[in-house]
Amino acid sequence: MRRYTDILTKLADSGNLRSIPADSTARTDLLDFSTNDYLGLAARADLQEEFYAQEGALTIPLTSSASRLLASTQRHYEELENLLTDLYGRPALLFNSGYHANIGLISALAEGSTLILADRLVHASIIDGMVLSKARFMRFRHNDVAHLEQLLRRNAAEYDRVLIVVESVYSMDGDTSLLEEIAALRHSTPNALLYVDEAHAVGVCGPTGLGVCHGTSWYDDVDILVGTFGKACASMGAFCAVSDKALRDFALNRSRSFIFSTALPPLNAAWTSFILRHIVEMNTERTHLRQLSAQLASSLAPILPAQLTPSHILPVIVGSADKALALSRALLDHDIKVLPIRTPTVPPGTERLRISLSAGMTSADITRLSSALTSLHNSSL
Ligand code: PMP
Repeated sequence: MRRYTDILTKLADSGNLRSIPADSTARTDLLDFSTNDYLGLAARADLQEEFYAQEGALTIPLTSSASRLLASTQRHYEELENLLTDLYGRPALLFNSGYHANIGLISALAEGSTLILADRLVHASIIDGMVLSKARFMRFRHNDVAHLEQLLRRNAAEYDRVLIVVESVYSMDGDTSLLEEIAALRHSTPNALLYVDEAHAVGVCGPTGLGVCHGTSWYDDVDILVGTFGKACASMGAFCAVSDKALRDFALNRSRSFIFSTALPPLNAAWTSFILRHIVEMNTERTHLRQLSAQLASSLAPILPAQLTPSHILPVIVGSADKALALSRALLDHDIKVLPIRTPTVPPGTERLRISLSAGMTSADITRLSSALTSLHNSSL
């Protein structure tokens, strides 16, 4: 026990000890910039009522009682996969979460002679998938396509396969990957596969909210597209939509997180299908979210050193865990919740507040946040 308590003490001393925040749902006065509810659907009682008013909705099972390969009830999963296939024009396979998808898919796909080339800032679930795979992996500088190209040129020929892994919208920085150029590299490298995690883009980006990749001229060069349902979709779970049926069959046979874990409740899959059908129609919400993002970026420009690109995720980098904690606490005194993000979630020295916007917010909410941040900045907190 001593060793564990020593580690905990060190974490506390460096400002990196984590704890679960208090339930804040009862605080109607609190402006919450900490969730990934980008379309503001989590609080939409009207959608829940509409869902439960559907015939048979109240009796959809609350458990699958087995992994997907053994479950008796399959209908709701199949309906969701068929919907995803209709929307994305590709075979789709469900996973219990984005974490399950990334560790399961990457560790399975990187079998044999595979080199993984991943952006420096990819999510922890991707890193864990790479580590689990036991394949060799290298990281290229964030969004540095020239660096990726250099690594490909130097190393690709030595391997049967190179798996390029990126996110479309980065979870902690909110910036968008240079995917068109990366897809071109994939196109010109005969043994490359491109894997794109769209966790923070599904629901938000693209003309129908299907993410950054769908509908582009380079969509066919994205071999594996991963999306999650726990963020803009106000649900839980994840999917991959793949360019070839063999990739789906392979994932189904080799992704251990798919094979060896109880499937999400059928009720959850039914809710996800219901929400997805609505999301493709939600252009008003997406436009509103873009307007809020532009408003926030321009109102914070005077106090933030880096050039801000408008995004529904906006980092306020303060450079140390203590500063991030202090700023988060000070905002809470203004009834504004923005949580600090510390290492190991972000590299040391880039500790930050991560502001996450929602289409459920108003322009006045953004003004309240930017005024509070500006006054705290001016009082040099
Ligand atoms: N990928 C990315 C880019 C993420 O940011 C996250 C979660 N924040 C995940 C995957 C994991 O998804 P889930 O929460 O559904 O496990």
